[in-house]
Amino acid sequence: MDLGPWTLDLGKDERPDWSPNVQGPRGLGAKGFLTAFLFVVGVPVLAQSPADRIVAHTLAESRAYDITAHLSDEIGPRLSGSRGAELAVKWTASKFEEWGIPVRREKVMVPRWVRGAERGRLISHNDQKIVLTALGGSVATPAEGLNGTVVEVRTYDDLASLGRKGIAGRIVFYSAAMDLDLVRAGHAFEAYSKAVEFRGSGADRAAEYGAVAVITRSVGSDSLRTPHTGSLRYGGKQPKIPAASVTAEDAMLIQRLLARGERVRMHLLLTPKTLPDVESANVVAEIRGSEKPDEIVVIGGHLDSWDLGTGAIDNASGVAMTMDTMRAIKATGLQPRRTIRAVLFMNEENGLRGARAYAKEHAAEIPKHVAALESDAGAATPLGFRTTLDGAVRDAFVAPFLPVLGRVPATAFETSEYSGADTSPLVDAGVPGFGLITEATRYFHYHHTPADTLDKIDRDELTRATAAFAAMTWMLADRPDTAPRGPVKRGRK
Ligand SMILES: [Zn+2]
Repeated sequence: MDLGPWTLDLGKDERPDWSPNVQGPRGLGAKGFLTAFLFVVGVPVLAQSPADRIVAHTLAESRAYDITAHLSDEIGPRLSGSRGAELAVKWTASKFEEWGIPVRREKVMVPRWVRGAERGRLISHNDQKIVLTALGGSVATPAEGLNGTVVEVRTYDDLASLGRKGIAGRIVFYSAAMDLDLVRAGHAFEAYSKAVEFRGSGADRAAEYGAVAVITRSVGSDSLRTPHTGSLRYGGKQPKIPAASVTAEDAMLIQRLLARGERVRMHLLLTPKTLPDVESANVVAEIRGSEKPDEIVVIGGHLDSWDLGTGAIDNASGVAMTMDTMRAIKATGLQPRRTIRAVLFMNEENGLRGARAYAKEHAAEIPKHVAALESDAGAATPLGFRTTLDGAVRDAFVAPFLPVLGRVPATAFETSEYSGADTSPLVDAGVPGFGLITEATRYFHYHHTPADTLDKIDRDELTRATAAFAAMTWMLADRPDTAPRGPVKRGRK
């Protein structure tokens, strides 16, 4: 299979550009070398620690954008079990091989949900088209579609007060919007996790009262009539009813009609299929530690994506940061004290099977996992990291990181029990977690929509995010001590 025209040309990197004793690269005298370095990072060459060198190398030579471009443009959507997902496994593994980094595929069985036709129209209002998309995992409507009266609810309390009488036989419409004030205040992920509740559990809750289908307002911070997909969960006790998200514009249209006291009837057709599970893989690559090879720093992000866009920001960019970190460390010829293990997790979006399989497969090794670092929060300007460490312990542990991270800069450290979905099984087992934070006020404009495409990524921002990620990886793996292990405090966000 031809995986596209570009390949990573590592010719230049594979030569040691400079030795740890600070020799200039070939063809450059010491003065030229110093000038080159001053140009890159603006600091004297003699101050270059290994972490500084990794930052400088990444800022100058990162391939993260090209990796993101290949995954999103050449391979495209990578929903678990799809051809795109399998091509992504093959291609990323082949890149590690090409860079001389040992790599293996660890088997994961993944769900295979395939989107079908998806159509909505308002039969009460001149058959106006409603732009919508099936939620991941949704069951199909009858082949001819279904018709129902739309009933709006904002909360589960509304469902309860309408009761079976008000809900049975109808299409429940969850109209709550994402809290944009929270997004603007820099808490986009918090706003998302609140709004996404209805997408996740809304169908199950409405089925309890006899609803025939559910539509939810797309979760997102902006829209050009772009529907937002994502997984739903059926609890198992209620009948499974079909569910779709309608765009913000269509949600507001329906709300206006209902607010005028009009009866809104809708036709809904969804034909997704759930096929048998298929075999896929986590891609696992390693740079072995020099002094403590049995101690492991796991870094990674998810390789699968939703099917509407090409998964550029979610999460080709996180995969690219992880891969480019490994490439950069290998290229600089440095060897960390501890082993760095890159894991490109399969199936974060609709099952988390890769993360669970990794934690299960490596259960005996988890006590030797000293940190887990994840990138799944966009490709924009890096700000810092969330971490499961807290208080004085956190401040003392991260203090040595700050001078290096200051060069990106990405020095904010925020305590959270959540460092990312794929690292959550490790964090739950006590491994200190870290997750890259980027400037995320635009992230949810595109996330899980057809608009998650490469053009949303700024090369320079992605390069700096990669430099922060690579620096953090190196420092976690090479510092003399390790962070204290969990348990993680729950109940804070
Ligand atoms: Zn993601």
